[in-house]
Amino acid sequence: MSVEQKIEVATAPDAVFEAPALGEPYLLTPGPLTTSYAVKQAMLRDWGSWDADFRAMTADLRRRLLALTGDRVGAYDCVPIQGSGSYCVEAMLGSFVPKDGKVLVLANGAYGLRAAQTMQYLGRAHTLIDKGDYLPPRGDEVARALDADPAITHVIAIHCETSSGILNPVKEIADVVLAKGRKLLVDSMSAFGAVDLDVNDIPYEAMVSSANKCIEGVPGFGFVITKKTALEAAKGNSHSLSLDVHAQWATMEKTGQWRFTPPTHVVAAFIEALKMHEAEGGVPARGARYTGNRDVMVAGMRELGFETLLADNWLSPIIVTFFCPADEKFDFTRFYDLMKDKGFIIYPGKLTAVESFRIGCIGRMDAHVMRRVVEAARQSLDEMGVTDASPPQAALDERAKLAG
Ligand SMILES: *Cc1c(COP(=O)(O)O)cnc(C)c1O
Repeated sequence: MSVEQKIEVATAPDAVFEAPALGEPYLLTPGPLTTSYAVKQAMLRDWGSWDADFRAMTADLRRRLLALTGDRVGAYDCVPIQGSGSYCVEAMLGSFVPKDGKVLVLANGAYGLRAAQTMQYLGRAHTLIDKGDYLPPRGDEVARALDADPAITHVIAIHCETSSGILNPVKEIADVVLAKGRKLLVDSMSAFGAVDLDVNDIPYEAMVSSANKCIEGVPGFGFVITKKTALEAAKGNSHSLSLDVHAQWATMEKTGQWRFTPPTHVVAAFIEALKMHEAEGGVPARGARYTGNRDVMVAGMRELGFETLLADNWLSPIIVTFFCPADEKFDFTRFYDLMKDKGFIIYPGKLTAVESFRIGCIGRMDAHVMRRVVEAARQSLDEMGVTDASPPQAALDERAKLAG
């Protein structure tokens, strides 16, 4: 998409989802997020972790996730790992980067920096390209970094950097990494299931995501999808017993079980979420719904005078950063509370230079809900006495950096 292309307001999808339970707000946050009633209901039963029923559920979960990768030759496998998404990032880095390997970390926000911090904890060699709060890492600079340092074995890229909402150019990065004979690791935590990450297009070494993002499950585990050759080579690499992807995989292959207590109810909920994902039409349909959510919400917020941090071509369909208005009557904490009163939980911003906040587009909701979000924002501004939601000049100067 070119910079000139503008977002068009999509027509609302026909589907109207059930509202969260009475009094429960919508979570406009990038996970945990609003889940369907069916997903919550799937947790109203207990399972024995060693029982054949649960082992079949684990196999089903792995098979369903692999079906989303585009792998037609069985080159990849899926290994679920207990814990939140960061546990999986750490498991991936510790298991696939050999002790004498070196990682180039591409950071443009909190999650990229967390990957670098993880490497520091691991005590393994790494180097960092830090683009600041939101500027995308580009192919040419990755190429220069790889040419300059032959010791680099792996590159880790963040697919959607959730801290600004930017959709990073992973295809461009992947092409360079492969051309230079290195291996690509992807943190696709907040994108997998809604944004295409086809192994035929982007033959990554390994990627991670978690249960409580675009598949719309509840929190409790994540998963690594990786080449089987990488799994075989990972034996003995891990710094950690519980985060050893090879050991988890080897046990699952042999016994069908997780090595340590699995989050049984979360797995049951996730399988229900995967069935709903499939019924909706898979990755393209999920992506289209989130894109519609974003377009309706962004167009409405812009009408109120709000401005996005990012130009349209970098906006992900996952979460959007808005500048706080310059009007001194605007107070984010008050705005948050007023939005919550109206049934919507929004998200604080993460920019270092200027005040901002974020609104997520993912979870069990559609464009009808997003129109109500905009209406709630309009009322909240009214109640604060803010007549103009446009940002301060400093914010616009900051944004001008993106244009170069
Ligand atoms: C959510 C997320 C993570 C994991 O965060 P946890 O709080 O550990 O679940 C990692 N990377 C990205 C890009 C994310 O959006």
